Amino acid sequence: MRLSQYFLPTLKEDPKEAEIASHRFMLRAGMIKQNGAGIYTWLPMGLRVLRKIENLVRYHQDSVGAHECLMPTIQSADLWKESGRYDAYGKEMLRITDRHDREMLYGPTNEEMITDVFRSYIKSYKDLPKNLYHIQWKFRDEIRPRFGVMRGREFLMKDAYSFDLTKEDAVYSYQKMFLAYLKTYTSLGLRVIPMKADTGPIGGDLSHEFILLAETGESEVYVDEKWMDMDLSGKDVFYKSRGQLDKFFKEMTSVYAATDETHDGVGAPANLVKTRGIEVGHIFYFGTKYSESMKALVQNKEGKTVPVEMGSYGIGVSRLVGAIIEANHDDAGIKWPASVAPYNVGIINLKVSDEETTCVCEELYKNLQAANVDVLYDDRDTNAGGKFADMDLIGLPWQVIVGPRGLKSGVVELKKRATGEKHEVSLESVMNTLTTDIKDITQGF
Ligand code: ATP
Ligand code: MG
Repeated sequence: MRLSQYFLPTLKEDPKEAEIASHRFMLRAGMIKQNGAGIYTWLPMGLRVLRKIENLVRYHQDSVGAHECLMPTIQSADLWKESGRYDAYGKEMLRITDRHDREMLYGPTNEEMITDVFRSYIKSYKDLPKNLYHIQWKFRDEIRPRFGVMRGREFLMKDAYSFDLTKEDAVYSYQKMFLAYLKTYTSLGLRVIPMKADTGPIGGDLSHEFILLAETGESEVYVDEKWMDMDLSGKDVFYKSRGQLDKFFKEMTSVYAATDETHDGVGAPANLVKTRGIEVGHIFYFGTKYSESMKALVQNKEGKTVPVEMGSYGIGVSRLVGAIIEANHDDAGIKWPASVAPYNVGIINLKVSDEETTCVCEELYKNLQAANVDVLYDDRDTNAGGKFADMDLIGLPWQVIVGPRGLKSGVVELKKRATGEKHEVSLESVMNTLTTDIKDITQGF
């Protein structure tokens, strides 16, 4: 992409309304524009990151056998009356009436709707287990939308729903998702800790929140110091091996980690750290709470009709954009982990009017694209200082700085945004360095 033709409205000044780094940088880096309280337009650069996160989330859902579908944002109130949650949900639910005076709502979550989908088709244990998910916008009329996309009113969520015959099978489904979540966060370059959680209005008796530790987080959490250097990747665990999965789950849940609501001191270790965090996912096993009230029944092996065992599994996809920035930035701007960076490389042309400089940039731009590297080329005829500042602000992992002075001795400068390290690299080797390095890190999972 050529910056001169792109839609990247960067801002020099910090917007007053932004209290935390991620909100500040998302506005300044031209990723989002606010349209109303907790409602945003995703501008081209922001959308690229959102899509990359979405795709990694999708990859890991598919990897454990969940199937993607897409349910509507607008739901009928009738389903919610069946489950009994229409009155219970309260003011966070945006209620709408259509022209026929039918009560509708903008979905804050989809337990009811997926239960209705399920009961329409599945009648026998022979068709179980099943796991369906979608990545769809939700609306919750939050009392206090704030921190940009971290607590929006309209936000993008991945929500998955599992269906099993027995509690034992449902717990296995839960453990598979637990593993998929840890793999997802690792692929996003984050260290996220699973914590014992309350089930809240979703209901049920087994639940974990996935929390990214951060000073600016809204949740107060209590964690065993051991978490700080534990391997959270789940990389050696194969989800089809119940033995491996069970062992991994037991290991992960035996080390203390609790949110403010669940921290009761029972089993808390001596080396307990009290800190804050951002909730980037929440999973629940709730058994037959919805299948009983909504009559999602299946025949078991004995020919008896029983309510299906369910769980639900959410990831805050749009919140993750902010959370990743909270974990990866400095005073100058964002430092994207390679797997979610909007572009892998930025080329800075220091002197557009210099023929050789522009020639070299164009050649590099073309070659990188041919090598399947996402590249943003700053070909604007503006001053170098502003270009450096913008490139640091938008936080692409690599910068290639090309100017007449370096070219005299046949070199360009290569800068790694994460560490600030700079190297002079010969024109001949720059392609090689970038393509080999980038191949390793763009894979992401
Ligand atoms: P919170 O306690 O932060 O309000 P929640 O418990 O209401 O979250 P869930 O219903 O479990 O959230 O939703 C699943 C995920 O969706 C959460 O883990 C979070 O990452 C994300 N999420 C929830 N509410 C919002 C919001 N208002 N804006 C952005 N993301 C959200
Ligand atoms: Mg909430």
